[in-house]
Amino acid sequence: MNKMIVTDNLGKEYQDLVALEGLSLQIPRGEIFGLLGPNGAGKTTTIKILTTLARPTRGTARIQDFDVVRQPLQVKGLLGVCPQEINLDKELTAYENLWIYGRLYRVSGLKKRIQELLDFGDLSGRAHHLVKGFSGGMQRRLLILRALISRPQVLFLDEPTVGLDPQVRRQLWSLIRQLKLEGITIVLTTHYIEEAEMLCDRVGILNRGRLISLDTPATLVARLGGYVVESTHNGKREYHLAKDKTAAYSCAQTENCEVIIRQVNLEDVFIQLTGERLTQ
Ligand code: ATP
Repeated sequence: MNKMIVTDNLGKEYQDLVALEGLSLQIPRGEIFGLLGPNGAGKTTTIKILTTLARPTRGTARIQDFDVVRQPLQVKGLLGVCPQEINLDKELTAYENLWIYGRLYRVSGLKKRIQELLDFGDLSGRAHHLVKGFSGGMQRRLLILRALISRPQVLFLDEPTVGLDPQVRRQLWSLIRQLKLEGITIVLTTHYIEEAEMLCDRVGILNRGRLISLDTPATLVARLGGYVVESTHNGKREYHLAKDKTAAYSCAQTENCEVIIRQVNLEDVFIQLTGERLTQ
């Protein structure tokens, strides 16, 4: 396995609070890795350490063999970071936003690189339009293009489709999949479980600073297996796990309201493991 990201017993404490504990992880080149967890689970802390913005209090993390604490410049040179907040300069054009970042990162052949990116993100026709007139989906695409300006090996995407409608979200997923095909390693955090299920090769589930599960979405779902009976009581949604269809039907018969029977999905796994539902 060609490992791009390796962490060993990584941890971070803030005074007496353990934000991250004993994270040992290997992410191969070209993988889309999803980091999931309820609020306060340690996702941001992990990303901050991997992107050299926070110092671990124990353990090590390496990006393509460079240590994030001892070799931050080399590490930064490999990374692209796409924040959750759309922090583009909206009074400038798409081209100008990319140009400024390109100059900051001293990108060689910048004009050509910007054109490549605008073509890739299907924004060439809007290159010289002010960003403030862009739709939410276009702004998100531009944000990803900006993170790609320095030709990174690893791309961190923090909630890349937050607030977008389902169709626009799907367009972004296809853009992200294309990046994977180009060999870029992607670390993604998301509150949309469906997004992780559709996009990620593997997901790691963090809870209270600990990695409690790590596998492909399909394996995690198969491990829980079975069916879910959903019902609504006094406006409150309830979920019952059933090991097979027969058990699901008998469970449904005990409910005196309308029920939905469906197969287990990644969200059920998440709830089972963390006891919490992701809010969006
Ligand atoms: P969210 O989904 O809400 O962003 P998260 O999984 O990203 O949550 P973190 O932001 O990594 O979680 O936080 C993990 C824990 O560390 C939380 O209990 C948080 O309150 C705490 N924490 C994070 N940053 C600091 C800080 N600078 N000082 C003290 N505690 C912190």
